[in-house]
Amino acid sequence: MPARPVLLLGGTRDAREIARRLHERGHDVVTSLAGVTADPQIPPGRLRVGGFGGIEGLADYLRNEGIALVIDATHPFAAQMSRHAHAACGGLRVPLLRLDRPAWSAGDGDRWIDAASPAAAASLLPPGARVLLTIGRKEVAPFLARPDLTGWARMIEAPPHAPPPGWVILRERPPFTRDAELALLRGHAISHVVCKNSGGALGTEKLQAARLLGLPVVMIARPAKPPALSAAGPEALAEAAEGLLSP
Ligand code: NAP
Repeated sequence: MPARPVLLLGGTRDAREIARRLHERGHDVVTSLAGVTADPQIPPGRLRVGGFGGIEGLADYLRNEGIALVIDATHPFAAQMSRHAHAACGGLRVPLLRLDRPAWSAGDGDRWIDAASPAAAASLLPPGARVLLTIGRKEVAPFLARPDLTGWARMIEAPPHAPPPGWVILRERPPFTRDAELALLRGHAISHVVCKNSGGALGTEKLQAARLLGLPVVMIARPAKPPALSAAGPEALAEAAEGLLSP
């Protein structure tokens, strides 16, 4: 009998790395993408794209496909997908493993301002701030709504509406170098960086650049995710998955 497939909830670089590792070990991995990026980076193994239709839809998928294990390697801010995975797996007793990248923490020379949400971050910026926003198109609205703020908003997909005057949309995806981040901050006289506490190695260059320039960083805290068996990196997660999948 062929081995049952693994469902990998993806949309992150770490998920592609997990797909590669499990695929190389001969597992049947189906990566699932939300379908929000027009030109996604495709991982090895099988691919499905689009929402499942809530917890019920995901539970149907797990049953119909005979999924042996769900790996939640979504972004730390993709809290709804993680809640749905937790509920659907719990209901069907399908094992769930989650990648929980350690969060970033402030070090010497960092000037971080903690914010509980994007809306809170927008309200914490001083009048007239010139901002580098690196938070994605879904969360930019409270910043663009403040008429005194200007700056650059970096994202992979363009927002549905043109930004107000004083804002420039930068459509770019990581990786970025520290020197490029320094040039961006200096070149546009940025006064504040706003970012999500995504954690991981990727994305720290803007934090290094802000530290070097003594700029404040408004750091948006992660949403809570439900408890799950987890690993901190792709390698450890692939090992844990192997342990759960071996007969
Ligand atoms: P979310 O708010 O947690 O989820 C919203 C809905 O999108 C889910 O209920 C689900 O729809 C669908 N969905 C999310 N991830 C999915 C996946 N991997 N496969 C199939 N459906 C998925 O998610 P989000 O924050 O919009 O993130 C969407 C995707 O972008 C995720 O894959 C995430 O890893 C990636 N991403 C997010 C961020 C971020 O900052 N949020 C950053 C980088 C990458 P149904 O209820 O219909 O199943």
